[in-house]
Amino acid sequence: MQWRVIAETMARLEATTRRLEQQAILGALFRQVPPDQIDRVIYLCQGQLAPPWVNIEFGLSERLLPRAIAQAAGVPEAQVVALYKQQGDLGLVAEEVLRGPGAGLTLAEVYARLQEIAAARGAGAISRKVSLLADLLSRLSGLEARYVVRIVQGRLRLGVGDATIMDALAEAFGGKEARPVIERAYTLRADLGLVGRLLATQGVEAVRQIGPEPGTPVLPALAERLPSAEEIIRKVGTVAAEPKYDGLRLQVHRDGERIWLFSRRLEDLSETFPEIVRAVRRQVRARRAIFDGEALAYNPETGEFFPFQITVTRRRKYRIQEMEERYPLRLFAFDLLLADGTDYTPRPFRERRAALEALIARDPDDTIQVTEQIVTADPRALERFFLAMVERGLEGIVAKRPDAPYHAGARNFNWIKLKRSYTGRLSETVDVVIVGYLLGRGKRAQLGIGSLIGAVYDPENNRFRTVAKIGSGLSEEEWRELRRLLDEIRVPVKPPYVDAQIAADVWVEPRYVVEVLADEITRSPLHTCGKRNEEPGYSLRFPRVVRIRFDRRPEDATTEAEILRLYEQQQTVPERA
Ligand code: AMP
Repeated sequence: MQWRVIAETMARLEATTRRLEQQAILGALFRQVPPDQIDRVIYLCQGQLAPPWVNIEFGLSERLLPRAIAQAAGVPEAQVVALYKQQGDLGLVAEEVLRGPGAGLTLAEVYARLQEIAAARGAGAISRKVSLLADLLSRLSGLEARYVVRIVQGRLRLGVGDATIMDALAEAFGGKEARPVIERAYTLRADLGLVGRLLATQGVEAVRQIGPEPGTPVLPALAERLPSAEEIIRKVGTVAAEPKYDGLRLQVHRDGERIWLFSRRLEDLSETFPEIVRAVRRQVRARRAIFDGEALAYNPETGEFFPFQITVTRRRKYRIQEMEERYPLRLFAFDLLLADGTDYTPRPFRERRAALEALIARDPDDTIQVTEQIVTADPRALERFFLAMVERGLEGIVAKRPDAPYHAGARNFNWIKLKRSYTGRLSETVDVVIVGYLLGRGKRAQLGIGSLIGAVYDPENNRFRTVAKIGSGLSEEEWRELRRLLDEIRVPVKPPYVDAQIAADVWVEPRYVVEVLADEITRSPLHTCGKRNEEPGYSLRFPRVVRIRFDRRPEDATTEAEILRLYEQQQTVPERA
């Protein structure tokens, strides 16, 4: 398979935002690719060489890329830099200056070279990376180079979501019945390349057999929300309710001596929390296991738990030992997915919980503990439990259906969160994705950022729709920092998967999520959240940033449907103290 075919397909994908069209284009490509190379094509369409959770960095900065392009094209570096300033897209710049027809490189050759660039380490690595890339580019046509440059820069942005890739896989191999099989496999083994390759080489039945496997993250189950204990009981009947800890979600994997920790965004944090890794060795009574939990930092002097703001400081790559001594973690395990030979994900929660209790051994440190739990069908008992947790300074509770399976990747009423209310009619915070910002006036103009444009997610259509302009809640220092982060991901025009009517001064790639508190949800002609035809959309009134959620992916943001639901609740539920 020629790289030219991949590049042409990427160009066609990029030119449309219609999901069905993208699906047809990708499906046709998948049928054409040799089955044992389909995983590479899938990763490349995701802008990577491996599943997104594998840390692969090309290690070529924005400063070095123009050098490689200039070398390949035989033009002065200053010319490439000037064009980049004008156009804001290095891929297009490379396309413009590379005028050769290309040497007809194959997908395998390009992929192998990209791997080589990423793998170069040690002394002289940087100049080696530059010359490897320059050599590769010199053998590509302009269009072929466009996508290589964007991949290396980490800015492919084809706007093709996981769902579209799965649709295309089903279309190419196995049709409609294959779609749910593919999705199930992917939620349990979050590696679309692996699933696609298995499907292409061995067929649907092989994919049906996929279960969770230590070392590959499972998409975490997520919680819905309801406004009161009473509504929860009305909806579910008997629930198993647990404290809702406000820390970091960790999915723990063990395969013998190898241990992995994955964040909610599926980042590999195995190196970051060594005390958890040691505790897994001591406390987990199985050679192979996967379980879910929430990690919290505590004060080693008093044993008290710290708030989220402190816990989150443990998420860093340097001075790990010092941080561990200062803010050690405790992990509250709350669900079990795999233990030795048993895949627990289809089993009822009641059974998973019993097996989890048997799995975790007590230990003098008790670094890993199984969460407290009450089982009740009485709304008053549930309310009392909730109030007791709030009293303890926790966020609230999560009430779970005792008979539900572990539904990987799903947000549904198997888990329902009930959170402490803040002031205002909207008792919940929402998580919005920043899609751009406005410059602002007066004092704020000096900071170069006046307000953020926040959007919610519509997973059906893979769109981000605006719901708020947020201009308060951060300190000057934080605004500055956020602006710096946003400027790194600014894009010249509004991305096709952002649905907005307001004109941003700066558009950015949807990447950062902020937790926002607002007074209520109102109808608004300005925003596109919930907007259909001529009807007004929905917006957050008096929004302020509570914190930046580096632990969330844009797709984890509050969904458009949730905003509509919150709006309904707000109309019907009396104000809570
Ligand atoms: P939210 O982030 O507000 O959607 O709430 C769901 C999150 O609460 C999960 O992703 C976990 O990180 C966290 N959490 C804390 N305690 C629990 C618990 N006992 N069961 C499930 N999730 C919990």
